[in-house]
Amino acid sequence: MSTQQPVIIAGAGPSGCVLALSLAKQGIPVRLLEKCESLPIDLRASTFHPPSLEMIADLGDGIIEKMLARGLHADRYQYRDRATGDVATFDMAQIADETRFPFRLQLEQYELTRFVCEALQDYDCAEVRFGCELLRYEQDADGVTATVSSEGAEQQLRGSYLIGAEGARSVVRKSSGIGFMGFTYDEKFLVVSTSFPFEEVFEDFSYVNYVSDPEEWCVILRTDKLWRVLVPVFPASAEEEAYYLSDEFVQSRLKRLHDHGADYDVHHRSIYAVNQRVAETYVQGRALLVGDACHINNPLGGMGMNGGLHDAFNLAEKLRTVIQEGADPQAAFALYDRQRRELAVQFVQRHTIENKKLMEARDPDIQRKRQQMLMETAADPERARAFLLERSMINCVRESLAVQ
Ligand SMILES: Cc1cc2nc3c(=O)[nH]c(=O)nc-3n(C[C@H](O)[C@H](O)[C@H](O)COP(=O)(O)OP(=O)(O)OC[C@H]3O[C@@H](n4cnc5c(N)ncnc54)[C@H](O)[C@@H]3O)c2cc1C
Repeated sequence: MSTQQPVIIAGAGPSGCVLALSLAKQGIPVRLLEKCESLPIDLRASTFHPPSLEMIADLGDGIIEKMLARGLHADRYQYRDRATGDVATFDMAQIADETRFPFRLQLEQYELTRFVCEALQDYDCAEVRFGCELLRYEQDADGVTATVSSEGAEQQLRGSYLIGAEGARSVVRKSSGIGFMGFTYDEKFLVVSTSFPFEEVFEDFSYVNYVSDPEEWCVILRTDKLWRVLVPVFPASAEEEAYYLSDEFVQSRLKRLHDHGADYDVHHRSIYAVNQRVAETYVQGRALLVGDACHINNPLGGMGMNGGLHDAFNLAEKLRTVIQEGADPQAAFALYDRQRRELAVQFVQRHTIENKKLMEARDPDIQRKRQQMLMETAADPERARAFLLERSMINCVRESLAVQ
């Protein structure tokens, strides 16, 4: 590595990986720390929206080509009413003049981190350290000192800046005393994956389906490997949570969707808490936050990881101007905060909360009106286009870049 102090990034999730590669490509020394011994492979984000695909394409190194080859191109998505069978289909071809990628790419987020970490190996100015957990940090006028746990011992690492990309429990955010304002929903989400071919039993089924139902709404989407089903559950204790994860409950939920007279093969199941929170600030001197470290939301609409990627690309550019062009760090990082934090509060939180409310209405009348509204919107080219520009995060990225 060069003698210039590296930017230290804690967390090799999508946000941290993309930020590390963006900096390395500019020749900026970077040290990416990951507490796990290898890249985590968990079933989390699986939808890449058009602006994220454009940013990854511009990053180069063949990453977008690998992603496009592996992922599924969801060029439409559907809102379905299970009671009536009505379907509203949004066709992303209607925004083909607005983006190079008029589709949602369905691909596990760990494929992106894997491709990026492979690419980082080609950069002498980049170092990726696995099994290296950030414990705390201090900062002074010249840089940051990160205390990490690695190979059973504590070590101190010196850097120019420290980026908290270590997810919702961010050590950087907590050590900086930055509040994480918002709320946690009463219910949790159960996610189950299966190889059962839903596309063969539901007519004209798209890769992404939001299904309303007076008794229990769900999301059914396809990743590159499996179908994934998400349903809300209300565990009041550890025992109840274990029940919701049991074969009995999981099979009953899948059979409610479609009973094919046999048990489903279930590849994975997990329950997770759902939050809507945004950090009070994304910047504290030389410590900066990206991704889930500074904003978390429910996954309806697939905006969490995508928002984190947009943070990472935005911050990489600010760091570049500060480190290589001598731009005023305070001004550059304040602009990062304005462009990304305001947007997280006003756009992502609003849309994801609305998406969830739309899905969960129990009153059949409200559900019927909601489905009607979605079908009318989908059938009207102008309204469908406006809806798609909003939900695909194209509008919010444009609006964020316009903030000065
Ligand atoms: C079921 C589910 C479905 C989802 N679907 C979508 C979707 O379709 N689209 C979407 O946009 N979002 C979705 N999300 C949200 C998305 O997964 C997150 O927003 C995304 O993972 C955030 O990326 P990140 O890099 O900021 O943080 P993370 O992915 O959480 O990565 C943080 C990394 O930091 C490491 N780490 C933690 N602490 C430390 C430490 N102290 N030191 C060093 N390393 C550390 C962790 O091991 C991890 O590798 C979904 C989430 C869930 C749970």
